[in-house]
Amino acid sequence: MPQIIPQIEKNLHTSWQKDLREVVTEPKVLLQMLNINPDDYLQHFKARKLFPVRVPKSFINRMVKGDINDPLLKQVMPLSQEFIIADGYSTDPLEEHDTVAEGLLHKYHNRVLMVVKAGCAVNCRYCFRRHFPYQDNSPNKQRWHEALTYIAQHNSITEVIFSGGDPLMASDEHLAWLINQLEQIPHVKRIRIHSRLPVVMPSRVTMGLVNTLKKSPLKCVIVLHINHPNELNEELSAALESLRVARIPLFNQSVLLKGVNDNASCLISLCENLFDMGIQPYYLHLFDAVQGAAHFDVEEEKAKIIANEMLAKLSGFMMPKLVREIAGQPNKTPINLA
Ligand code: SF4
Repeated sequence: MPQIIPQIEKNLHTSWQKDLREVVTEPKVLLQMLNINPDDYLQHFKARKLFPVRVPKSFINRMVKGDINDPLLKQVMPLSQEFIIADGYSTDPLEEHDTVAEGLLHKYHNRVLMVVKAGCAVNCRYCFRRHFPYQDNSPNKQRWHEALTYIAQHNSITEVIFSGGDPLMASDEHLAWLINQLEQIPHVKRIRIHSRLPVVMPSRVTMGLVNTLKKSPLKCVIVLHINHPNELNEELSAALESLRVARIPLFNQSVLLKGVNDNASCLISLCENLFDMGIQPYYLHLFDAVQGAAHFDVEEEKAKIIANEMLAKLSGFMMPKLVREIAGQPNKTPINLA
């Protein structure tokens, strides 16, 4: 019945924004929810000053209670090691300071990256943008004019990547408006949305979002960010169902992280489970050398051993490409596994 649909949409909309308001920002509360005594880890909590703590409850529900080494907890738990200033690590490892317009990066020939929204539902401690000056690069509707004009003036741009922060932090209305603006530019063919939000907060997959992507004449693709098989559960699968039905291609990129997923059996399980869920494994990234997260780094030689074992045991179509992003390069750099 048509009159019910807006109400359903309103409820879903309210739900993800409510979940967003309720993300856990206190490390003490995070550990208490996991039945871990916070008093044993107080010395680490001050690292939240370097990068705030943010963890949605849905993501916490997938962690193993009582386990301080849980691979999901490790991705979000502040540690005193973040204060170490390590040689070769940078606050801007990918040199993303050259915006061509407010909120717009033109790193690759045919693609631009729009910083649609500052901030994320989850703050991953290894994030290469943990020092990014979002306050200077998150335009509202009025201020997108310069970026849209730049895209319209450059015929080589066929693909627009929505990034952030997390672009799905923007409201459905804002995303629909932005996509509509891009639909007016004839040479833009595709929109790629890079997001971790559906993973850590499945309620974000609203029918409003799905309908906008489904109805757009542009080809819309979503690239998720999932690092460990424990991040996959029924709640996520159910949320992604509407995207699968709408034939929105789903890809995944992972980051190889010490102590989280740096072994072949874990990543093989991840790739197989992703594929079963209708998500195509796409990239396995070597960690970007961001200051404050050196404890996550996996040496390239070890990464190659892991990738070779994956290659031997996975069907070829499930094998993500092992890549490194190098500042200034025209594309991601594949790692030679020989
Ligand atoms: S969701 Fe992505 S952009 Fe946000 S903190 Fe995590 S890695 Fe960084």
